[in-house]
Amino acid sequence: MSTHHSTVEVLGCSGSIGIRGEGTTSFLIDDDLLIDAGSGLNDLEFSRLERINHLVLTHSHLDHICSLPFLVDTVGVGRKQILRIYGLQHTIDALKECIFNERIWPDFTRIPNKDNPVMEYVVIEPHSTLQFGNRTIQTVPVTHTVPAIGVILDTPSGSWCFSGDTHQTDELYQVLNTRPKLKYFFLEAAFPDKEKWLADLAKHLCPSLVFGELGKLNSDCEVWISHLKPREFRQIQSELLGHGSPRPLQLLAARMIFHI
Ligand SMILES: [Zn+2]
Ligand SMILES: [Zn+2]
Repeated sequence: MSTHHSTVEVLGCSGSIGIRGEGTTSFLIDDDLLIDAGSGLNDLEFSRLERINHLVLTHSHLDHICSLPFLVDTVGVGRKQILRIYGLQHTIDALKECIFNERIWPDFTRIPNKDNPVMEYVVIEPHSTLQFGNRTIQTVPVTHTVPAIGVILDTPSGSWCFSGDTHQTDELYQVLNTRPKLKYFFLEAAFPDKEKWLADLAKHLCPSLVFGELGKLNSDCEVWISHLKPREFRQIQSELLGHGSPRPLQLLAARMIFHI
């Protein structure tokens, strides 16, 4: 692999559990940078878990953080470098109060001691730019039931975007329309059209809403859809891949690798 190219590996992109081999949201950029820590992370071998130094969380929901406690535990005190966890204030507060609270799991920001801990939190603003070598992550706020961000990866050779969990939103598309080298856009569709009321309530998308959102995107990038709920997988799939879409769509699955 050229050092000028990055890869995005899909560890998980399902809307829940129930399909063998398909865990919840987690994407690995190159070897060291993780976007979300859903149950898809469980399938990564120890030697690769050890190389993760950065985790950017899109929001606090369980399907995006559930494997983080095991990541810090299994790699734990053997780490050479601290694990940095980037998230909105709301997301970090939720981790502190609800997970790493000494009841559900230990506070790993004090293990083995607070001067030399396994992990640390980095609070970011909804509009942030994070630099990792020649890779830049830009965050853009999206529309969900809790504060949430989409992430854009910019590298010298191209860009990739993951919407995170979102309902209808505008700014993300405005920002993407400034990216001439956008190669891949990962968007979500959690529910079928007959459950649009649920998509509106849970601030997710359904296929007809996806089609509307894609009308805002002026890029000829590939569009990949994630986060389908297993209970309605076939229905959502047939609606997405039917005739309603303004452009070709493909369904994301675990173990796919994208070269940016
Ligand atoms: Zn969510
Ligand atoms: Zn989710």
